[in-house]
Amino acid sequence: MGTTQAAVVQYALEPLSVELREIPVPEIGEHDVLLQVGAVSVCGSDVHQFHATHSWAVNVPVVLGHEFCGTVAKAGRSVRGVKEGDRVVSETAAVICGTCMMCRTGRYNLCPTRKGFGYGVNGAMASYVATPARCLHAIPDSLPFEYACLCEPHAVAYQSMCVNSTIHPGDLVVVFGPGPIGLLCTRMAALAGANPLIVAGLPQDAPRLEAARALGATHTIDVSTGGLDDLVRSLDPLGADLVCEASGASRPLDAALKLVKPGGQVTKVGWSPDTIPIDINPLVGKNVTLQGSFSHNFPVWERVIHLLATGMAKPEIVVGLRSGLAGWRHAFDAMHEGDVIKSVLLPSM
Ligand SMILES: [Zn+2]
Ligand SMILES: [Zn+2]
Repeated sequence: MGTTQAAVVQYALEPLSVELREIPVPEIGEHDVLLQVGAVSVCGSDVHQFHATHSWAVNVPVVLGHEFCGTVAKAGRSVRGVKEGDRVVSETAAVICGTCMMCRTGRYNLCPTRKGFGYGVNGAMASYVATPARCLHAIPDSLPFEYACLCEPHAVAYQSMCVNSTIHPGDLVVVFGPGPIGLLCTRMAALAGANPLIVAGLPQDAPRLEAARALGATHTIDVSTGGLDDLVRSLDPLGADLVCEASGASRPLDAALKLVKPGGQVTKVGWSPDTIPIDINPLVGKNVTLQGSFSHNFPVWERVIHLLATGMAKPEIVVGLRSGLAGWRHAFDAMHEGDVIKSVLLPSM
């Protein structure tokens, strides 16, 4: 291993302030490992940071990438449980306080001081990344890196559909937004028994709606046709048991509150910088449960690794492009333009 490495770095907060730079291979502390990155998938949030359309604080300069896995190259002297050569996937809560109520009760994803890879601390779009050992989970040899890196977005989807929402077999579920997270929420809802399962998108989402069907959607619809409400009411006149809002915009919350059945649930997993006026009265009038879903924690990761390793999750449907680090721009643009659902960077390629 050399002392420097190429990395995809966001160096400023203005749009398009990302480039491939030569940076030092990170030092590790006694509780960390140095991970040789096997694969890192591009998240919508990486693309948002590239275009400066994100809604969270970014510590520049920072190496992008928080969806990653690899091989332990070096373990700090106090590390137990993993050793050099182990294949692992890493959670994203790179920094937590460890002492607050959230941390002490295992809900460290909600620690107020949480900082994630790729915006708070250096991420994994590089050959090596320093990772606290507490973030790591072993993965089976049968799970290739190019899919194991997708544990993170699957964990987001699992947390929103299978932890924060309640889905019973036969529930009518509607997912707004067939982006990567919406599609993985579709898969998790299908595994939880949602049926009918409707995925709603825009005219340019046609290929993504096809992917939604492959992931378990029973119906897909282009919302610009105006037929979503009729479709839902034709399946259940009272509306949807659960609406998952994964479009990444704020506005559709309005439509979600209209579509949901009395006593039903709305789960918001996408977010945006927009603040909008919205009619909140259906929340009260229909006794709706409205919940946000953020990130994930240890037990969710173990479940998701199982789903990926056993073929119950279907990452091959969402990965459309594989590239070395030098091809990062094309990988980002292909997602931004909607040519692929998900791009994966393989630093050894
Ligand atoms: Zn992500
Ligand atoms: Zn904490």
